[in-house]
Amino acid sequence: MLIIELTQTADPRETRAWLVARGLWLREFSHDGKRCFLTLEHSIQVSAAQLRSGPGIAAVLETASFHPLVDRQPTTVRVANHVLGPGEPPIWIAGPCGVESEQQIHTVAAQLSALGVSFLRGGAFKPRTSPYAFQGHGFEALVWLRDAARAHGMGCITEAVDGADVQHMVNYVDWIQIGARNMYNYALLKKVGQLRTPVLLKRGFSATLEEWISAGEYLLFHGAESVVFCERGIRHNDPSTRNLLDVGAVALLSQIHGFPVVADPSHAVGRRDLVYPLGAAALAAGACGLMVEVHPDPGQALSDGPQALLPSELAACLPGWTQIARTR
Ligand code: PEP
Ligand code: MN
Repeated sequence: MLIIELTQTADPRETRAWLVARGLWLREFSHDGKRCFLTLEHSIQVSAAQLRSGPGIAAVLETASFHPLVDRQPTTVRVANHVLGPGEPPIWIAGPCGVESEQQIHTVAAQLSALGVSFLRGGAFKPRTSPYAFQGHGFEALVWLRDAARAHGMGCITEAVDGADVQHMVNYVDWIQIGARNMYNYALLKKVGQLRTPVLLKRGFSATLEEWISAGEYLLFHGAESVVFCERGIRHNDPSTRNLLDVGAVALLSQIHGFPVVADPSHAVGRRDLVYPLGAAALAAGACGLMVEVHPDPGQALSDGPQALLPSELAACLPGWTQIARTR
């Protein structure tokens, strides 16, 4: 596969015609603010060198990878003035599973910002396994989330569930989350990619690394500014813990591939007393931050109460986690 990057002044129609005349089938996309063509599989074989002198062509990259855009992403990414990546201090993303009320999110935001949390999380649209479970307060909750984050100097992140809503969501949040249930929802990935925002991509319950990385490629191909991968545990056959945190996947993606990776120990283990060790393991493996569920009153939580930490419990985790991230 070839990626052909156009110059700023190129006439894309002229460049396309020149490439098509040489037997290439193309798909146009933009990446990193640059217009590009990707050669499709039924194109004739040409080398990068044969194309470099073409009209409007700035660079030609030859790749055998099925995820060239994920590969080209810098190992360090910036999301709303926070930098994630190796050598940077770990990023904490914390907040309740769902935004339950204006008061709840403001209360927890004040406590989390005092702990140095960079991003306030909270679902406005909750993709629940049961139709009877709390589904989120929708757009109203987006306003509460944004206002609480802004009032306490944090960025905010929430999950996109429906492609029809995402254009509106982008006015409220800095970072869009794709949840585990939607990792394979290619129509949603396309819509979210087209927003050109940073995206946090959770791993599907049973997704292979190839499927997960390909979902990241989808987002970048459709225009996402950046993709951070979030390991949140995969299905296993033992009901003792909610999921199985794949620490090997964190190490492979972060240390071998050099991709930005965070982990979510809360959904991985499903119980608050094991959030610390799982977070520690993920950071030791190379995660550049953690997403943690924190609720001001976990006993009253409308979703995922058993895995939610109190703000004071998060406070007790952070020094150890910071130390592990520093000494890695
Ligand atoms: C969440 O983070 O609120 C969530 C629903 O997580 P996941 O998609 O990993 O289940
Ligand atoms: Mn949750």
